[in-house]
Amino acid sequence: MDSRTGLPVVGMVGGGQLARMTHQAAIALGQSLRVLALTPEDGAALVAADVHYGDHTDLAALRTFAKGCDVVTFDHEHVPTEYVRTLAAEGFTLYPPADALVHAQDKRVMRERLSALGAPVPAWRPVASPDEAVEFGERVGWPLVLKAARGGYDGRGVWVVDDPEQAREQARVLIEGGTQVIAEERVRLRRELAVQVARSPFGQVAAYPVVETVQRDGICVEVLAPAPGLSEELALAAQQLAIDIATALGVVGLLAVELFEVGTGPADGRLIVNELAMRPHNSGHWSIEGARTSQFEQHLRAVLDYPMGDTALTAPAVAMANVLGGAEGGMSIDERLHHLFAADPGAKVHLYGKQVRPGRKIGHVTVLGDDMDEVRARAVRAARWLREGE
Ligand code: ADP
Repeated sequence: MDSRTGLPVVGMVGGGQLARMTHQAAIALGQSLRVLALTPEDGAALVAADVHYGDHTDLAALRTFAKGCDVVTFDHEHVPTEYVRTLAAEGFTLYPPADALVHAQDKRVMRERLSALGAPVPAWRPVASPDEAVEFGERVGWPLVLKAARGGYDGRGVWVVDDPEQAREQARVLIEGGTQVIAEERVRLRRELAVQVARSPFGQVAAYPVVETVQRDGICVEVLAPAPGLSEELALAAQQLAIDIATALGVVGLLAVELFEVGTGPADGRLIVNELAMRPHNSGHWSIEGARTSQFEQHLRAVLDYPMGDTALTAPAVAMANVLGGAEGGMSIDERLHHLFAADPGAKVHLYGKQVRPGRKIGHVTVLGDDMDEVRARAVRAARWLREGE
């Protein structure tokens, strides 16, 4: 507890853009997020007042950080599960708890649990040898998807293999390198969707409208809220599925459920769960302007066991486009901003204070309006302009 304000202290492990934007939401709640960052250049370390430095894989550093926090939460999934468990046993409060968090850390554990819960998942199996990968491919068909159970993000850790030969070779390299591997059928998806739900320790849940996520090269580039043309039935089913998963897993804080929509149209549409993330997520950045309560505020409310905020849309159509680092040179980012603001006063820009590297997420743009095609085109144009200056 902060004795001056009488408000609880929330600590976030990890100093990236998610912590940076959570800090922004914390300010409005009268708080200042305490951040465990790796370096002073981390996006959140640049802006938060209460920054500690240490490695998230160092138990002693985590313990020192947790002292004085009322609740510790995470901006990424890389804190070893056993450390979360150890600190909880020592009396610290960490959300989401280890038993929930592990499902966002380990794709094999996640697939096992979701299968046991009867949630729709792709056909999958753990793969302990190249032969097992080939056998599975022969059964479910080619191409096949191989995934590292732990440590992947933005498509790193996902390999699509076209035939038995490729499967054998890729599986061999991974297994010999000590990677735990799972294989999945390659889902013929119509598009990718995501739904955010927040859950408090009290058990209150609040779901956001279902969004469409557009990926390029395994990286999310656009998010459209609400998902255009999604039937009411599938939208409700997706929200209910996310709520059921959050409740069954005992999630506290935000849960993002990444989904595949399969089928040929609204009549035979079906959902398959791809991934879980237990923190604010790129697929929810639109909510800063596009929902009554942003995902960042909602995550704080949830981990503090405050009642959940209203998740309703603030406009009929909301589009978010990520700004990826482009090539060096040309117009400065400052000049680009100047031109963008002149050209589109309604575009809301968020930059993360990161050094520009090609392909790195350095910010995002959100546009709100009445017509999805129009707001999408504006968001994409603005993001491309910031990236390329043309
Ligand atoms: P990461 O954890 O790196 O984000 P994901 O498991 O979310 O990896 O996969 C990244 C992307 O790869 C997905 O967004 C999707 O486009 C594609 N993908 C993953 N699994 C499958 C699958 N079983 N079938 C088809 N596409 C898949």
